[in-house]
Parts: sequence; C-alpha cells; structure tokens
Amino acid sequence: MTRSVTLQTPLEACRHTRITQSAEIADFLALLAAHSDEAECVTLGYAVSGAPLRALLCRRDSRSLKPRVMLVGSHHGGSEPAGGEALLEVARALLHGDLAALLDHLDIAILPNANPDGRDADSSRNANSVNLNRDYVLLSQPESRALNSAVQRYRPDVVLDAHESAALKRKSLGRAGYLTEFQAQFDVANNPALPAAQLSFGEDVLLNELIRRVSHTGLHAQRYIREILSLEQALTYGGITIKRFRNKAAALGALSFLLETRLDPKAGEYPSFRNIEVRTAKQVRCIRIFLTLMAERAAELLALRRAPRGLQPGDPMVLSAEYAPRAEGAMMTVPLRRIDTGEVVDMVFRDHRRMALHPPIAAPRAYLVARHAGVVRDLLWRHGLHFHYLPRAESVRVVEQRVEQVFADGELALRTSERERSVQMPAGALRIPLDQPCGRVVPLLFEPGSSSMAYGYPAYRRLLCPGEPLFVYREL
Ligand SMILES: [Zn+2]
Repeated sequence: MTRSVTLQTPLEACRHTRITQSAEIADFLALLAAHSDEAECVTLGYAVSGAPLRALLCRRDSRSLKPRVMLVGSHHGGSEPAGGEALLEVARALLHGDLAALLDHLDIAILPNANPDGRDADSSRNANSVNLNRDYVLLSQPESRALNSAVQRYRPDVVLDAHESAALKRKSLGRAGYLTEFQAQFDVANNPALPAAQLSFGEDVLLNELIRRVSHTGLHAQRYIREILSLEQALTYGGITIKRFRNKAAALGALSFLLETRLDPKAGEYPSFRNIEVRTAKQVRCIRIFLTLMAERAAELLALRRAPRGLQPGDPMVLSAEYAPRAEGAMMTVPLRRIDTGEVVDMVFRDHRRMALHPPIAAPRAYLVARHAGVVRDLLWRHGLHFHYLPRAESVRVVEQRVEQVFADGELALRTSERERSVQMPAGALRIPLDQPCGRVVPLLFEPGSSSMAYGYPAYRRLLCPGEPLFVYREL
C-alpha cells in the first residue's frame, strides 16, 4: 500500500464546479490501480459509444475466504452522478485511506460508472435512449449485458446499486405543488422467487441494520418507497421484477441492495455545482456504513453462499406478487415540502407495503422449447444460460400451457390453462435444465405467470397465439 500519494478525485480537482466525465473516471481508476498492489483495473465491456465500463477489483491476499461485494454507481448516468463520484472516494479510501482494513474482510469490485454515455450526455439513459435499469430481462444493451455477465463471472455475495432520487419531479408531484423530503433510502431485492434464506437475511437483518446505522449518524434513512407521483396514489416498496438490476443480481445469487439519496432540484442555489458536493457526501456516508456492516457480517455472508441456491424439481417458486394494503384502511404519513411556501406538511397516503404472493408453481426439471428455438436461444445466450438441443424427436411428459387470452392494455397479462400430457418434441428443440447456477432465472423469463416474463416485450409477445399451446413446456 502506498500511503504517501495524495490522489485527488476529478471532482475534488475541479473544486466541485462540474460533474466528472466518463474518461476522467476511467483514468482515475487506472491511477488508483497503478498506485496499489491490491487493485486491478479491468474493463467489463463497452458502452454504445465504445466508452469502456471500467471496474476496480480490490483484494488483499490472505488465506481466509472473504465475501465478494460489488458496488455499482450511476446506472442512470448524468442524471444521477453522485453514486459514481462517491465510489471514487470510497475506492481511494479502501486502497490508500482509512477503509483499508475492510480488505482484510471483503473482496470488493467497484464499477462507478455503469452508464458512461448517459453521464457524458447529462441523461439518465444510454446512447440508445434505453433506461438501463429496466433492461435486465431483455439485455438489449451492451451496458446491461456487460454488467449481467460481470455478476455471473465475479459471483458477488453482495451487490449495492447506488442511485439518486429527484426531490422535485416536475412532471408529476411537482405539478401538484410538492417536493419529497427523503434523504437516504435503501431497498433490498424482493422478488418473491428468491430463496427464502436470502430474502429474510437481506430484509430482516441487513436492511434494518443499515437504515438504523445511517440514521444514527444524523442522515435520516428509511426503506425505499417507490416514487411518489401523485397525492392520491398508494405507497409501496420498490418494483419486484428482474428487469431491475437489483433484482436481477439477486436472481443470479447475490444479496442485493438499492441506495437512493436525495437529488436536489437543479434550479436551487448551492455552494457547489447542483449541490454535488453534499450529494456525494451523502452517498459516501451510506456506502462506508454499508461496507463496514458487510465486513462485520462476513461469516454469515459466507454461510449463505454455501446454502443451496439451485432449483430442485418440485421446489415451490412464487413467480409474481402485488403490493396490497398492510391492513384494512392502513394509512402512512409522509412529510412533503410545499413548493410555494417551503413549508413541510405531513401528507397521508394509503399504505400498500405488504406483498400479496401469487400461488407458487412446482419447479420442473427443465423447460423444453418446441418452436421459435432461434429467438429463445438468442435470449438464453445473452443471459449466459445453458441449454442443449434435442438430437432427435422424442416423446416427453410435460405440462403444456395453452394461451387462452393475451391482455396487452397496460401491463401485459396472460391467461393460460395447463394440463399434463405427452408431447412429441421435434429434433432441434431446446432443453433448458434448471440445475444450473443461474437456473432460477429461467422460470422468471418463461413462465406466463411471472412478473418478469419475456412475453411482456413485443419481440416475444408476438410469438403468442391465443388458442394454441405456449411454445415453452415444463418437463416433468
Ligand atoms: Zn436511478
């Protein structure tokens, strides 16, 4: 370790007068690695423009096994830059500063800039105008594909995805005359198909402890409330589908968290550019507490790694859920700030923070794809999922799901009826086994009752024919 170097982050070097550009972030990571023998700078992939997605792998050689943590910043580009700025400070503190002791307990991968083109264009989207944090079902973009495969290669035990939430939503709550007052919010991956041990340790233990510790430092923290767009809506926690990185990383086996800190309105008067110094400091505080907690819980994280994660035939799997009232007539009070007077007012909302689970299915041994094998194969490749081709036609005992009706207005829903039967599978049909490392993703993509199903997207929806059997079968 080289403690003598003073490495200024680009944000410090420009005295917080602008947001750091993607090339500066890539250079700073290389500089940190050059000054440390405990860090390696790697390129995980490339953005649409060709800009590298650069990560720093921080590890200290020792005999002990350590949990792997992956920190991701600025998925939403230049609209939410503070996570990326903060991760540069955190990386420096791990390699050259006061967080160095954490590397005795954790291996840490840091990807500060998950959306370089969005950062440089001052946009939340990538250069194809895609919201990357909704792209983890389709994996249509090079950035999301790079992150997805990085999670599969690095196999983190824990993931943190660092975002910012706009206090002023001009097109929705702002029109009603209010700003939100949240400072820091954490959520945990909550897709109900995740293993029970993973869900409960994340939600009941780590999430609560994180919120308590951050609040204890004087920065008010709470569990994430999904965006408040109107005064009439019900309040829920975050979205459950694997199109979001947080839930996708969890389906790939990580305990996975979301951080959202306050994004101050652009128009305000601040001592630094768009208040970036304060915004970054909030992120740094939350991420430091997060890492410290994970280091303390290293033994439990390793125990969770050893717990069985794969799907066995017959395992129950819940594919969908809805937020529902906590109790009949339950209400929740949230402080909001009036834009005209600046006064903080307690507003009352319906409290829908309970998850009502749909009935589980029994996991099959495998899925068989009788038609549209080329389209499905391309999706499996993007997801890094294993499959093979049936070498010859064979009769297989399956659950066949007949597509009764496709509802496409608003959220897509499918009505299907199922029956067990023997079906003649053609040569070249795909067989996707579930006893593979990321097997849990397969039913989420291909079951018509899944809240994450691929059929929600036009390229796959157009393959559905009402009155005919679905082309993906459960193998018994
Ligand atoms: Zn975001």
